[in-house]
Formats: sequence, C-alpha cells, structure tokens
Amino acid sequence: MSIQTNLKQIQNTIPSNVTLVAVSKTKPIELLQEVYNAGQRVFGENKIQEMSEKHDAMPKDVEWHMIGHVQRNKVKYMAPFVSLIHAVDNLKLLKEINKQAKKNSRVIKCLLQLKIASEDSKFGMLEPELKTLLQSEELKNLEHIKIAGLMGMATFTDNQNQITKEFEYLKSTFETLRNYKSENCNLETLSMGMSGDYKIAISCGSTMVRIGSSIFGARTYNK
Ligand SMILES: *Cc1c(COP(=O)(O)O)cnc(C)c1O
Repeated sequence: MSIQTNLKQIQNTIPSNVTLVAVSKTKPIELLQEVYNAGQRVFGENKIQEMSEKHDAMPKDVEWHMIGHVQRNKVKYMAPFVSLIHAVDNLKLLKEINKQAKKNSRVIKCLLQLKIASEDSKFGMLEPELKTLLQSEELKNLEHIKIAGLMGMATFTDNQNQITKEFEYLKSTFETLRNYKSENCNLETLSMGMSGDYKIAISCGSTMVRIGSSIFGARTYNK
C-alpha cells in the first residue's frame, strides 16, 4: 500500500481532537516529503542529529517533535526549532531545556514521561517522582519551558488487557495531576499510542498518537 493510503486510513480512524505525530525516524527525506505532500505537518524523531538534518531539508512549516530519550548535552542542537519534547523525565533536563530555550528567546513545550510499562528498559518517572517535580519551587522559576502534558509507552506485548490497564493508569494519573496548574504548567496533552496500540490508547483518552511503521512501513533496523 502507498504511504498516502496508509496515512489516509489512519487519519480516518483518529478523532479530530487527537493529534497525529508521523514518526519518521530512520526514513529518508523523500518519504517524509510524500507524507508532507499528503498534508501531514507534525513529524516525530528520536535522534537529535537526524531531526536537525531533516529540519534543514524539509519545508519550514513542519512541527518537529522529539519523541526519544534526550541527553542534556544535546538539547542545544534542537532548542532553536523543536516544537515539543515528549519524554522529559527529570528536573536537570528541564533546567537545561529552559536554559537553551532562553538563549533562543523561546518557550519550549515539554511532556513528562510516566513509566507505565512493566519492562525495565522503558524510561520515565514513577508517579510520586512526577508529583514531587510538579510541586517543586525550582520548577516555578523556569520561565522558558511549558509543561504541556504527559507521555507514556505501554509494554510491548500482545496482551491487550495489559496495554489497556497501562493506558488507563496513565490517563487517571493525567487527570489527577491536572490540578497542579501554574504559570509554566498546564497539562492538556496526553501522548500515548503507537502503531500497534493507538486504537486502545484513543479509547483510553489519548490526545496525541505517535505512529511510525503503520504510515512509513516497517523500519529496516530496530530502534
Ligand atoms: C518509534 C517510536 C514510535 C513509533 O513506533 P511505531 O510502532 O513504528 O508506530 C512511537 N513512540 C516512540 C517513543 C518511538 O520511539
């Protein structure tokens, strides 16, 4: 099937309040351009170097989302253009994002990652850590970031029941933490769902899905 057909099919199954992030990691510019030509403007990447190169090559109205784990020393390379950083999981990283956003006279939107999967390999904070971060005085001083929501990744499994439980847990944590509102914090976005589980995620209240292989086809190597 063509990429355009894939994209249309997915768009048709996503409600209008859910944002589609086209995850283009490892894919060449020609394919991104095809998806762009079909009307898609939000793209997600998980490596800063690759995202920067694609940002330079693609039209300037693309919104670039960093969906991967971010190393502090790399923040400076995306600070001039990144629209949303999905997987922030500590205060030190938020401080660095704030510093680099300030240098670029920007406010950078971030999502905090909650660990919901049972696998040790998945990143993210536990609920108590997240609460502590949201209540910390230090967070209030970061004027160049905006905490816009939460993100999570379910366990990689065929067990639909387990995936549903993990997404329900993320959704309920999201609703609880929405009470922590401040100048730079207002939880509105819930980023959950990938190719294999986005339908479950949407039924559990996702407002943003990150879809790669169902649009672009399988990746040739695993990352
Ligand atoms: C790769 C990736 C996706 C997309 O995965 P697909 O299964 O190809 O849809 C979504 N989110 C994150 C964080 C990823 O790294």
